[in-house]
Amino acid sequence: MAYDFDLFVIGAGSGGVRAARLSASYGAKVAIAEEYRYGGTCVIRGCVPKKLFVYASRFQGAFDDAAGFGWDVAPPAFDWEKLVAAKDKEIERLSHIYLSVLDKAGVHHFEARARLKGVNEVELLDEAGEVQQSFTAARILVAVGGTPFKPDIAGAELGITSNEAFDLPELPKAITVIGGGYIAVEFATIFNGLGVSTTLAYRGPALLRGFDEDIRQGLTEALIARGIDVRLNVSPLTIEAGANALTLTMDDGSSIAAGQVMFATGRVPKTAGLGLEALGVAMGKRGEIVVDRQSQSSVPSIYAVGDVTDRVNLTPVAIREGAAFAETFYHDNPTIVDHDLIPTAVFSEPEIGTIGLSEAEARAQHGDVKVYKSVFNPMKNTISGRVEKTIMKMIVDQASDRVLGVHILGPDAGEIVQGLAIALKMGATKADFDATMALHPSAAEELVTMR
Ligand code: FAD
Repeated sequence: MAYDFDLFVIGAGSGGVRAARLSASYGAKVAIAEEYRYGGTCVIRGCVPKKLFVYASRFQGAFDDAAGFGWDVAPPAFDWEKLVAAKDKEIERLSHIYLSVLDKAGVHHFEARARLKGVNEVELLDEAGEVQQSFTAARILVAVGGTPFKPDIAGAELGITSNEAFDLPELPKAITVIGGGYIAVEFATIFNGLGVSTTLAYRGPALLRGFDEDIRQGLTEALIARGIDVRLNVSPLTIEAGANALTLTMDDGSSIAAGQVMFATGRVPKTAGLGLEALGVAMGKRGEIVVDRQSQSSVPSIYAVGDVTDRVNLTPVAIREGAAFAETFYHDNPTIVDHDLIPTAVFSEPEIGTIGLSEAEARAQHGDVKVYKSVFNPMKNTISGRVEKTIMKMIVDQASDRVLGVHILGPDAGEIVQGLAIALKMGATKADFDATMALHPSAAEELVTMR
């Protein structure tokens, strides 16, 4: 049977664009549909604008530290509208690059919401939800990403999510961020740095579930020291709108007034309304598409990459999965993505960089492990007067001497861990670290001098 396209991709984010572009460059006839903006979550309302806001928020700390180094910094003033406008300009530029990349590769693109009509058929909808066009394709790749999830509480509609946080018409005087994952911690840091009175409320006993315990503890102490009101073991019950503020009532009986409430309470795969159930595509409890190692779903012509599969929800992973799909099916080069040893950062203040197993995971999986830990005051803090410890931790397998995990809390942790990731991926041992000469004076030199 002749199809309109060899491949139809739904969603022009990190994974979809990479898959579409590469597949087209290998000779496939490819189409892509995007319902919002080219570039997807990472570019439009994720990693990129977030990091720009992180940079903006870190100036406050730099101004505070400057006095110790002899600078007399007049009380600095901050203009939220200017930051949002500068951010918008940059993401517009990036979004345009994504579109031109698709154009150059000869990908047919449609600005429309898409859904599946058959195992080889996609239909495009207009804003009213009416079907405008439909196309057939030999393969369909679902790369629709995820969407923020809000708890079902009274007044939830009064709270924002990360989607809206990037474009608030004005900076609130006070905000309560609900959640304890990396997005919650990062936004609490951003707002705090920009001078907003910030509360971070989380239902669990400690922030950043899944991270190494020392890092979780160290970060929580640092956030509190930087002025964030961290409240643990509390959940919101209701949000009510008053004359000047929102009032959040918590399940411990407390209430918090704030100009904004932000939910950073997780994300779910954006599969609702895509028509997958009717086609028998197997999905998990959170609505994620279940795929095999080659990103193929339970229906042979339907594939999925990126956050919609809820494997490891990070941009570089979605990109690799999109590339592996194109290599496998349009370049005769079967490629499996290795999801092991993925470095990640939390762009909080101080920053976290981490790779591999936490101490608890390493003990559970390997039994005997050696733990090396260094807690120190970074050089910059000596004369700036700031009291904030850097933590570096290395977990080593006792039997093989292999480094199983490295966890850093401190300036540039993400940058340091990206370099280390190569060594860990190559199977570096503690002896390899010890044999490496230190770079002095740096914080990272601690990693090769740990005893
Ligand atoms: P997406 O990038 O989400 O792209 C999916 C696209 O599909 C979107 O453009 C969407 O509009 C479109 N779409 C959805 N449904 C349809 C439909 N029916 N029809 C047509 N189009 C549709 N990752 C990192 O690696 N580092 C970070 O620092 C980081 N920070 C983040 C900060 C925030 C606030 C958020 C929300 C995410 C962050 N992420 C980060 C995660 C990262 O953004 C995602 O992992 C990544 O974007 C996933 O790519 P994807 O291709 O799966 O989906």
